[in-house]
Amino acid sequence: MARLQHPQELSTLQSIFEGIDDAIFCHDLDMRITHWNPAAEQLFGYSHEEIIDESVYLLIPEDRQQEKMDIMRDIMEGRRIGHFKTIRRTREGVEIPVSITISPIRDQEGQVTGSSQIARSIIEENAAEEKQARLAAIVASSDDAIVGKSLQGIITSWNIGAEKMFGYTEQEAIGQHISLLIPPERLNEEDIIIGNIRAGKKVDHFQTIRRTKGGQQLHISLSVSPILNKAGEIIGASKIARNITAQKEAERSVAKSMERMEILNSISKSINEDLDLQHILQRVTDATTRLTGADFGAFFYNRIDQGGESYWLYTISGAPRAAFENFPMPRNTAVFHPTFSGEDVVRVDDITKDPRYGKNSPYFGMPKGHLPVVSYLAVPVITHSGVVIGGLFFGHKQAGVFKEEHEDLVVTVASQAAVAIDNSRLFEEVKDLSNKKDEFIALASHELKTPLTSMSGFLQILERMVPDGSAKSFAEKALKQLAKLNELVNDLFDISKIQAGKLQLNFEPFDLSDLLDEITDTFEQTHPHYNLKMAADGELLVSGDKMRLEQVLTNLLGNAVKYAPDAREVSMIAIRTGNEIRISVKDQGPGILPENQQHIFSQFYRVKEQERKTSGLGLGLYISKDIIDRHGGRIWVESTPGHGATFTFSLPAFTN
Ligand code: ADP
Repeated sequence: MARLQHPQELSTLQSIFEGIDDAIFCHDLDMRITHWNPAAEQLFGYSHEEIIDESVYLLIPEDRQQEKMDIMRDIMEGRRIGHFKTIRRTREGVEIPVSITISPIRDQEGQVTGSSQIARSIIEENAAEEKQARLAAIVASSDDAIVGKSLQGIITSWNIGAEKMFGYTEQEAIGQHISLLIPPERLNEEDIIIGNIRAGKKVDHFQTIRRTKGGQQLHISLSVSPILNKAGEIIGASKIARNITAQKEAERSVAKSMERMEILNSISKSINEDLDLQHILQRVTDATTRLTGADFGAFFYNRIDQGGESYWLYTISGAPRAAFENFPMPRNTAVFHPTFSGEDVVRVDDITKDPRYGKNSPYFGMPKGHLPVVSYLAVPVITHSGVVIGGLFFGHKQAGVFKEEHEDLVVTVASQAAVAIDNSRLFEEVKDLSNKKDEFIALASHELKTPLTSMSGFLQILERMVPDGSAKSFAEKALKQLAKLNELVNDLFDISKIQAGKLQLNFEPFDLSDLLDEITDTFEQTHPHYNLKMAADGELLVSGDKMRLEQVLTNLLGNAVKYAPDAREVSMIAIRTGNEIRISVKDQGPGILPENQQHIFSQFYRVKEQERKTSGLGLGLYISKDIIDRHGGRIWVESTPGHGATFTFSLPAFTN
């Protein structure tokens, strides 16, 4: 310490000593403490009174006492020791890290008489260092790439994770611009990120693509945070990149399988709902071509025509039909044989190098102008009964495109297709038979009508000619039966006309009340033992075919008599509500079970129990429904078994 004599100077020093934040204390050569400032009291916990004249070793943990002795040797030799880091002990016995500067104190002759010490706690500094070291260890050991960069985008730090992920070493990366890692088409992302950082905003889990040293593209999830200096200014950014390529690939493969599942589902649904063969073939071809990623696909389907000759049908996807039109159909060559014989699937990475390929004249391979096929996949389509009905073929101009998964998918679809094709074949057979039946009915009813008409004419003449008596009554009976026969033939005739769309209706406005009166008169004459109750309400004008509507009503009344043989009462009610006219025929018969009610309007349907008891073809209600439908009306039945049946039809009221 310099020699100080001036009292002014002394008091200045005293106030510094008292007011300074660092602990300052002195001891003599006996190691007794001679000076102790308030900051020392603060740091070590001893008051001035307690510590003065006490040994300085009070403050020094045992294991540091030797160190103190060594220091004292330097002090005795007049050397100063600056910013020496050690441990000291407080009054409470707590050991604290301190940084101490120790200087010798000399007397006027320059002799060392003691030492002065300035001590500062470095607990916080240590903690900060420790934190720093821990962070550095985390950064170093992280699998994520952690990169620091300046606001200009220059890389300032680069961890091992970054080295592993991007392939550049620390030396290679530091000092480079961050665009080193960014694919050219994404360079503008950096401006956006830096823009955010300058505004003090974090960028969180931003999914993007970066490039490695080797040029590989990586899917990464990026989080970028601003780096602040002590003054809180943004000086750069730290970015953490996580490689999510595997995750992305997994996501892609899940999405792909989902898409495939959906395609499989939708194709199985759509082909099973469809009975049209050409549609089924086209759908199967389109879907399988999509599923395999083929350039084009084709479905060759072998059909047998009515003469028993087989011929080929085919559908194409991915190429115009014209691309195949000029080529002959596939023959039973070595390449095609496994497919058309149903033996096996053929999947080849390069068909042009296959030993089976190119062996047959005239083309020895694909004909000129054929779409290029290198990858080749062919799957036979076989029915449940084992009949090979065709094959699905796929081509791609590159090699090795079709994998096992594609083969499996096509095999699955092919088996579904076989079922659908079988169904459609059965459906077509049924349709053929039904057409034949319709043709027969049309022919038979037409041919029967002429002799019937002349027979009925002759019988009427005969009936008039013969005198009253048994011959006349026979003639009358024959005429009655003939009328019944005529009705049946007429129904058949109508049916064939309905089927051919040729049942003509002649619409004209007329009053249904008149028709109902006429029908009631006829009914009362022909069924003298029945009580027909008729009730009509409101204006009953319609536009319709009077004869055909009469046919409907006669049929309903006829059924009411035919199917309720024990009842003696039938009622017919006509009412108008708004723009609709409803006519009901109600009987007192056994009624119709609910399960039969929905079928009785179909062609040839007759309720089993009544089939034997009554004659009929099951056509009357079918024809009636067609007539009413074509009038824009509806017909239905309501019945509680045991309580009769009510048939009602509605017609739009005529308004002019
Ligand atoms: P068909 O009388 O020639 O059998 P329809 O088409 O007129 O043909 O009738 C179809 C079937 O509906 C009949 O076979 C009969 O079983 C049932 N049916 C029709 N009307 C009645 C009725 N009023 N009561 C009970 N069953 C009826």
